[in-house]
Amino acid sequence: MINLYSDTSTRPTAAMREAMASAEVGDEQKGQDPTVNRLLGMVADLLGKEAALFLPSGTMCNLIGVKTHTQPGEAILAHRQGHVLRSETGGAALVSGVIVDQLPGKRGLFTAQDVRAAIPSPSPYVAQPSLLCVEQTHNFGGGTVWPLAQLQAVSDVAREHGLAVHMDGARLMNAVVATGIAAHEYAKPCDSVWIDFTKGLGAPLGAVLAGSTSFIQKARRYKHLFGGALRQAGIVAAGCIYALEHHIERLQDDHNNAKLLAEGLSSIPGIKMDGPIDTNIVFFDTTAAGVPPNHFVSAIKQAGVEMGAMGKRIRAVTHLDVNRQDVEQAIDIVNQVMANLSKQ
Ligand SMILES: *Cc1c(COP(=O)(O)O)cnc(C)c1O
Repeated sequence: MINLYSDTSTRPTAAMREAMASAEVGDEQKGQDPTVNRLLGMVADLLGKEAALFLPSGTMCNLIGVKTHTQPGEAILAHRQGHVLRSETGGAALVSGVIVDQLPGKRGLFTAQDVRAAIPSPSPYVAQPSLLCVEQTHNFGGGTVWPLAQLQAVSDVAREHGLAVHMDGARLMNAVVATGIAAHEYAKPCDSVWIDFTKGLGAPLGAVLAGSTSFIQKARRYKHLFGGALRQAGIVAAGCIYALEHHIERLQDDHNNAKLLAEGLSSIPGIKMDGPIDTNIVFFDTTAAGVPPNHFVSAIKQAGVEMGAMGKRIRAVTHLDVNRQDVEQAIDIVNQVMANLSKQ
């Protein structure tokens, strides 16, 4: 099976498992796990922040990020296709009691103008926004990279109006590798930022949220409250450290493979590509050929390729466990399947 469903599909490599097996451990909940502490130092440096917090998942980073920055009854601004809005079970509403004001914009990006337009004049009737969320890279936008100047511009408007800025950096390192811009540069316009180790970085679990010392102190209380405090977490943190040391530069391979995949798919009759390829995510559409996404996905799965149906579109994601040959084979399989499905 060629798994292009998600970059969360990666399995830890033998070398990563070895690093995990030999990790020094302690009680993470008490702040005494040496491997977790080493990871936190590395990520804080990488992102140019004072402090960091180890969490089980990216979803919990967003949940705690929103909770720490807001009060119930306030609003947060996020792109209408944002993960925090579309894929986190309404956690921001449930746990933080905030409403989400949805920003427009192509491919998951919005402009300073969009943010300005969404900020209401002070009034007793409106929910006042206190947080702006940005997603780097933007998942449902198509692995889109936020240009640094645009990020800076939206952050400037937010801060001018007293909003904090939170970056969902699940795939921040993909943006870093794609552009050569350092992670701390992208993190600078943001008060909090996190990276996920279970996406392209290839670790089995773990995410790290970073920010100021006072932000992280507050966030740590919510981590405990939400049941995210751990014990001998060094076992998994060692996988994350291994990923930082060995799996960042190779993200370029995933980007090259995604471009190759998109080129191959774009020449198949009935397939319409959705936007350019910035990083490792490819979206396309088969509905013009009369092939519904769920039919397409189950047909290619039978033929040995996994992709995801997301609304009207299909998503394919390249990662550590998919090489160039796999991508070439996947293109051939999709070609055959589309020929068969279009005949029906
Ligand atoms: C995957 C993802 C998350 C959630 O991360 P998990 O570690 O799967 O909980 C949040 N935001 C974005 C953009 C993601 O792609």
